[in-house]
Amino acid sequence: NEPLEVVDPEIAEVLKNELGRQRGTLEMIASENFVPRAVLEAQGSVLTNKYAEGYPGRRYYGGCEFVDVAEDLARDRAKSLFGAAYANVQPHSGASANAAVLSAIAEPGDTILGLELSHGGHLTHGMKLNFSGKLYKVASYGVDPETFLVDMDVVRQQALEHKPKVIIAGWSAYPRTLDFAAFRAIADEVGATLWVDMAHFAGLVAAGLYPNPVPHAHVVSSTVHKTIGGPRSGFILTNDLDLYKKINSNVFPGQQGGPLMHVIAAKATAFKLAATDEFADRQARTLSGAKLLAAALTTEASKAAGVDVLTGGTDVHLVLADLRHSQLDGQQAEDALHAVGITVNRNSVPFDPRPPMVTSGLRIGTPALATRGFGDVEFAEVSDIIALTLQQAGDIEALKARVTALADAFPLYPGLEEW
Ligand code: PLP
Repeated sequence: NEPLEVVDPEIAEVLKNELGRQRGTLEMIASENFVPRAVLEAQGSVLTNKYAEGYPGRRYYGGCEFVDVAEDLARDRAKSLFGAAYANVQPHSGASANAAVLSAIAEPGDTILGLELSHGGHLTHGMKLNFSGKLYKVASYGVDPETFLVDMDVVRQQALEHKPKVIIAGWSAYPRTLDFAAFRAIADEVGATLWVDMAHFAGLVAAGLYPNPVPHAHVVSSTVHKTIGGPRSGFILTNDLDLYKKINSNVFPGQQGGPLMHVIAAKATAFKLAATDEFADRQARTLSGAKLLAAALTTEASKAAGVDVLTGGTDVHLVLADLRHSQLDGQQAEDALHAVGITVNRNSVPFDPRPPMVTSGLRIGTPALATRGFGDVEFAEVSDIIALTLQQAGDIEALKARVTALADAFPLYPGLEEW
């Protein structure tokens, strides 16, 4: 029972260094967040020791009386948060949730229709090296080449042409709302199942700041660790009892063995927190911060430096910087921001002239900084730092000092070493 730093000093060092990195830099990867202490406690708990194959009340192992309570709480809270009749909270990740969803609603060889990966879709929506691209025939809809928006007439055209078994709505890099009712009407017209993957925007949905797909979709999947800010994991919602039964058997035993009960307990805690006013305020600051960032990257000075924003702004927690006309490509821009202490990821823009490892864009998100406590004042400051960096208009050391001042003003996990 020696502590980690005695048993494995090398790994203890990794943890210490990573905490220092998270504290000392500004995290703006759109899919990342900081879990609260309560979630860390639930996840780093003795529940990791428990096997619980099956579902509450119907397990294949003894001794599940307490973990059953955790899973029931997680399911009930997820249902009430999103207004769904049924929830499965066992998926280990967003990708495993999606694998279970697809295996429940389509047979290998069926056609699936989703947003093109290079236009903001996800690997699990039909990328050729992913299970979804290997097992299913993949058709896709892209964004409009002028507006960069999803055009529902194009979605309908593609649906009529390919007659998909499944239509997927949802994205990893798209800055606007989707019309879920219109997606459902198209799905009904062609006899497809509508699956919405709300992995990115679930936190905004919970706060009422993005349309809720649950009333429209046959099935909704999500992660817990992006805008929601819970443990790294997934969950699935539906209002259809028959589909729920299929989903359950496609999660376990279809895709997974024993559920991660420590993570499920942490999900329950994250869903409890997501129903609070504090959470709604955090999502509002997330959204407002993204709008301030979009404004800073569309000023005259930004445009003069060839920096712009896809779709001209954002409705969500992320901004897609358009660097097609900038001197910096996506890789160079990511490196330039890293040099001043801001972490982002480069991202292909639709119809990108540059290769995927270089790209002509950045995806910049505000959830982690909102969790850290940032409001409009701080988001305006970090937006200015980003704009100056991308315009190559500021002194790097001075910009770095401004980043450090922001990080120091919002300490992350104060006192964690003593917990
Ligand atoms: N679905 C979407 C839309 C995503 O953006 C992601 C993550 O990037 C996933 C699913 C997969 O989540 P995970 O990384 O937990 O497998």
